[in-house]
Amino acid sequence: MTRRHALLIDPVASDDDRSDFTDTLSAVDPAGPVLSLGELSAQRGDGVFESIGVVDGHPQEVTAHLERLEQSARLCDLPAPHLDQWRAAVAEIASRCPAGEYVIKLILSRGIDHGAGPTAWVTATPAPDFSRVRRDGVRVVTLDRGVDSGASARAPWLLLGAKTLSYAVNMAAIREAGRRGADDAVFVSSDGFVLEAPTASVILRFGDRFVTPEPAAGILHGTTQMSLFAHLASRGFEVGYERIPVDRLRRADGGWLVSSVRLAAPIVAVDGHGIALDAALTASLTDYLLSPRE
Ligand code: PLP
Repeated sequence: MTRRHALLIDPVASDDDRSDFTDTLSAVDPAGPVLSLGELSAQRGDGVFESIGVVDGHPQEVTAHLERLEQSARLCDLPAPHLDQWRAAVAEIASRCPAGEYVIKLILSRGIDHGAGPTAWVTATPAPDFSRVRRDGVRVVTLDRGVDSGASARAPWLLLGAKTLSYAVNMAAIREAGRRGADDAVFVSSDGFVLEAPTASVILRFGDRFVTPEPAAGILHGTTQMSLFAHLASRGFEVGYERIPVDRLRRADGGWLVSSVRLAAPIVAVDGHGIALDAALTASLTDYLLSPRE
């Protein structure tokens, strides 16, 4: 069976009331020449995206991802995506994913330079094998993001809460973490509060309370974090959004980087200080995240 798939989407207006979008989706060769060199996604990173985990053919948390795609598009002044059309594209491409873990990417680009409108497509590819980091964890270093925690409200054009295609800064931070002998980074605001990792949300444990930074601080509101908070609350734990000063990160009783494809990677060190790894709890979080979730 082919392991990579791609569908081009011919975007329709957000109020289009058709119930079947099949004829707006076309299968294309994921390795083939499909996009124009004039693509603003390639030239400027001008577009938004989502990554959805797929487990044994089931796409996880589709509604939460579509809602964030809509929110990112709004922040970037892109035409509103028709969520039922995107839902149909996700269902179609997920039906082509065999057993195992896959990642579906949704991409909404501003389109071709001076072109008629946005370009949109979805891809499905096998997920990398994250079993080792889910079990053994990641060492992180804190890195200054260079903006204070009020920047998102003061300068919305920085698009801090949008999942844009411009991830060069995030990738540079991961490389810097590697140079400092760590596996990943945690961004900290210039006024000293924990934000997020370059490709994940941060969840910390203090006793029986689990906390994560407030999305208003200019971070992505993670779908995995939201799902885990609902799960932890159902198990009787307290959960909450907080402003977390960076020294609390180093004193946490436990911590995880959480995201849709890597799932929950326990944090085992922050800036060289060890953090306890609760193997049983982490395994139970992974089991939950691998179960079918709507
Ligand atoms: N924050 C950033 C910057 C991310 O890139 C991601 C995921 O890629 C997340 C948080 C976690 O989001 P989610 O759990 O929806 O995958």
